[in-house]
Amino acid sequence: MSARRQIDRLRSDAIWVETFRRKIKMNPGPLDTYCWEWQGGLDKSGYGRLHIKRYHETGKGRNFIAHRLSYMIFTGAFIEPEEYILHQCHNRLCCNPDHFKLGDHQDNMDDLHDSGRVAGERNSNSKLSEDHVWDILALYYDKEWTVSNILEEYDVSRGTITDIVYGRTWGYLYDEFMELGDE
Ligand SMILES: [Zn+2]
Repeated sequence: MSARRQIDRLRSDAIWVETFRRKIKMNPGPLDTYCWEWQGGLDKSGYGRLHIKRYHETGKGRNFIAHRLSYMIFTGAFIEPEEYILHQCHNRLCCNPDHFKLGDHQDNMDDLHDSGRVAGERNSNSKLSEDHVWDILALYYDKEWTVSNILEEYDVSRGTITDIVYGRTWGYLYDEFMELGDE
């Protein structure tokens, strides 16, 4: 997958890694070790978000979620789209791989419920989380990505993506997104 090639090249570029590290600030958190808090841009869910043109195969660039990228850069492992990162520190900005636990969709649901954040992910068969759906809406409507572009990033069917962008599924998120989209 092309995202993997880009990540591979980024993590072997010491200068780029240093630039990435400079966007992260160490702050005390609820755990014994510091949270590495992302200082750059955020998506509407409050997660760090960055767009990286460097090493992109066509130069168009690709969006990354900061903490997921941090995990891949600093551990050398890849995360599959269906794998979730669960923040043990419950700090969405945190990019410290030591504070992450990898899990699947069910773990993510359990974690969300445990942390009292949300009980709204109604389609329990979905491989996507609310955050993913929000990202897909943002890519489509804010960044004007095509459905095909989005399919390169998410391992789901075309129908799943089109249902999301037309509000046929995850309608409550679609409604929320459209309202906030006017700001
Ligand atoms: Zn943390």
